[in-house]
Amino acid sequence: MDMPTVAIVGRPNVGKSTLFNRLVGKKLALVDDRPGVTRDRREGDVNFGGLVFRIIDTAGLEQADADSLLGRMRAQTEAAILEADVVLFVIDARAGILPADQPFAELVRRAGCPVILIANKAESGAGLSGAYEAFSLGLGDPIPFSAEHGEGIGELHDALSEVLPQPDEDDEDEDPSDRSLKVAIVGRPNAGKSTLINRMLGEERLLVGPEAGITRDSISLDWEWRGRRIKLHDTAGMRRKARIDDKLEKLAVSDGLRAVRFAEVVVVLLDATIPFEKQDLTIVDLIESEGRALVIGLNKWDLVADQNGLLKKLREDCTRLLPQVRGVPVVPLSGLAGEGIDKLMQAVVGAETVWNTRVSTSRINDWLSEATQRNPPPAVSGRRIKIRYATQVKARPPHFALFGNQLDGLPKSYTRYLVNGLREAFVLPGVPIRLSLRTSK
Ligand code: GDP
Ligand code: GDP
Repeated sequence: MDMPTVAIVGRPNVGKSTLFNRLVGKKLALVDDRPGVTRDRREGDVNFGGLVFRIIDTAGLEQADADSLLGRMRAQTEAAILEADVVLFVIDARAGILPADQPFAELVRRAGCPVILIANKAESGAGLSGAYEAFSLGLGDPIPFSAEHGEGIGELHDALSEVLPQPDEDDEDEDPSDRSLKVAIVGRPNAGKSTLINRMLGEERLLVGPEAGITRDSISLDWEWRGRRIKLHDTAGMRRKARIDDKLEKLAVSDGLRAVRFAEVVVVLLDATIPFEKQDLTIVDLIESEGRALVIGLNKWDLVADQNGLLKKLREDCTRLLPQVRGVPVVPLSGLAGEGIDKLMQAVVGAETVWNTRVSTSRINDWLSEATQRNPPPAVSGRRIKIRYATQVKARPPHFALFGNQLDGLPKSYTRYLVNGLREAFVLPGVPIRLSLRTSK
């Protein structure tokens, strides 16, 4: 499971940065140090008394002109809320609730995730009346707090541990660096899936004996490729099970979906002598809608006479038939002869890296201003659509959000232009890319 994300939200000057520093630790080196990231916002990884999460601070905007400051701050706050699993909404208890708090409270109310209300600057019992006023926000009971002096930290820890998503049981005590990569090999009957899987398991040391695959309810086989742990979806095991249960047809339909849901990277295996049928396009659509990374394997390459010619043609077919996963790796191989498996696995591991990509907010916005200058968004009923700000809200697969005015008016061709641009600028071949549009005002 991804690390949960916590966003610190509130108007300027309530103490967000102070709270951020306290949670991340004084050592700002721990803060995301990719150049430029801190220009727009700060992120850091936190271990807060055993609670592990990523934290986003929405403060720290460099001087923008007063006009755009609020707009940008709102857009950023919205972006942070969209990413967040939990929002910490901060007010200044000494100042009480000011009109300037309201627009932020409004955004937070619509967050759709748990909100913890923090009445800051309440050290040694100060600001009690402000804390009472905070009840009126309708965001639950405020925690009297002092980011500067560390008061209320225990209460914040209790509140967070109640609402922070817990890691999956599977992932407990797992070191992320040797986490298994989940891979499924799907394709039409006779494409050569079983032959390929057997070859893979035979070539490398088996972590679990072959009997494991035959265990009826096991759906994955542990394998290792160049020191990387892989969980292979056991297609053949499913089939054996189906025969036993005599529900072959029913399973055949759901098997593809099950395999895709199991996997992080899906290999669509084609028989190179009869490539691309409608069924293959359907499974690619499924992989796209489930948001998985994709690699195409051209099996039975040993049977192909004009290898160069066919490879060129099939790569062109992919560009034309699969625009939603432009740049997908296409790897010729022979499961029977055991050729091309290394190349296939390199592509699989590479696809996972792309799928996991996180691009810093400042790089995205540099790209955005260039892309919108080169090709400005069209006008809708006389008013120009304005895209103000963009950020990546999730990885696996990469998911970006755009903020601005009248974005629902953006034509499909323009969002396609942006998606293609993101794909090229940040080198995201072959994975689904999500783009959400958020209109403010
Ligand atoms: P931000 O704009 O919301 O990030 O706010 P800052 O973290 O920059 O804090 C604004 C001001 O409030 C600074 O002068 C801080 O020193 C002060 N401040 C922050 N937390 C506290 C607190 O708990 N008590 C008091 N008295 N002042 C605080
Ligand atoms: P599955 O239904 O996708 O699991 O396909 P199988 O692994 O059962 O293979 C179907 C047929 O294709 C078998 O007769 C295999 O021997 C053959 N086959 C599989 N891979 C290759 C290959 O790389 N080259 C050749 N020439 N035949 C293959």
